[in-house]
Amino acid sequence: MKIYKTTKELQAALNSLRQKGQTIAFIPTMGALHQGHLSLVERGMQECDHCVTSIFVNPTQFNQAADLDKYPRDLQGDVDLLSTLGDSIVYAPTVEDVYPTDIDTSVDLDLGSLATAMEGEFRPGHFDGVVQVVNRLLNIVKPEALIMGQKDFQQFAIIKYMIQQLNIPTQLIMGETMRTETGLAMSSRNRRLSDRGRETAADIYRMLCYARDMYGITPLPLLLQEAKVSLHPDFEIEYLTIADADTLIPLDQASTKPAVICTAAFLEGIRLIDNLPLDPIPH
Ligand code: AMP
Repeated sequence: MKIYKTTKELQAALNSLRQKGQTIAFIPTMGALHQGHLSLVERGMQECDHCVTSIFVNPTQFNQAADLDKYPRDLQGDVDLLSTLGDSIVYAPTVEDVYPTDIDTSVDLDLGSLATAMEGEFRPGHFDGVVQVVNRLLNIVKPEALIMGQKDFQQFAIIKYMIQQLNIPTQLIMGETMRTETGLAMSSRNRRLSDRGRETAADIYRMLCYARDMYGITPLPLLLQEAKVSLHPDFEIEYLTIADADTLIPLDQASTKPAVICTAAFLEGIRLIDNLPLDPIPH
C-alpha cells in the first residue's frame, strides 16, 4: 500500500507506472470507507493494472458547514481496510493541494435538468462542487477507468455527462450498490444511526422494491403515494421520485425507456439516499 499526500508525489509515481505501459483505475471517495467502497476498488483492480483511491472530504460539495465538520474522518482506518485488498495506491491530499490558489479549478458546464430535480432541489450547489472535484481529480490522476457507485445515481449521471461534454479520455464504470443483509444501502452515514435506527433504515429498500414491483401496474402518482405511506413513520421523506434514467426528468407515467426510482429521507436526523433501476415497460 502506497500513500501519497501531494499531487506532485502521486503524479511522479503514476508517471513511472505509465512509462511501463500500465493502466490506472481511479475511485474517488471521501473516506470513512466500507464494503461498498471496497467493491469499487476491487472492480478497479480487475479493470486496470493499478488502482488509486482518493480520500478527500471535498469542501465545495457541502452546502452546510456543519455537515462538512461532522463528516467522519479516519485515514488510518481507511488505509487498514484498503490494505485487506492487496497492493493499491491511496491519494490523501489537503484542500490546498486539490485547490491551489494559482490554478483555476472551476468547471463551466450547464448541467440542465440533470441537476435540478431530486438531490439538486434539496442540496443547491452540491453537484457543482462534485463536478469541480471529480474534474480536478481526473486531471491529476488521468486514469483509464473511473469507477463510481450506482448508490449515488444522480451523481453518476452527472459525471457521465461531464466526461462526454469535456471529452475526457476516461471510461466511466458503474459499481452496483452494496447492501447489508437487511437491504440497507451501505453508507458512511449509517454509523451515526442507533442500532434500532439501522434496523428501521432497511425499510427504504423494502419500499423501493415494492415500487419497482408495482411499476407499470399501478399508475405512478398512486404508486408513489402508496410507497410513501408504507414507509415506517419514523422517516421524514425529502423526495421520492421516478425519473428517466438518462435525463433524470421526473416521469408521470411508466416509460418504455429505462427509469430509476430515487429517494432521500431523514431518520434520526441522518439523511439517507437510495435508488433502484426500473426496467422499461414493453411497448
Ligand atoms: P462517498 O465517499 O461515500 O461519497 O462515495 C464514494 C464512492 O463510493 C461513490 O462513487 C459512491 O457512489 C460509492 N458508494 C457509496 N456507497 C456505496 C455502496 N453502498 N455500494 C457501492 N458504492 C458505494
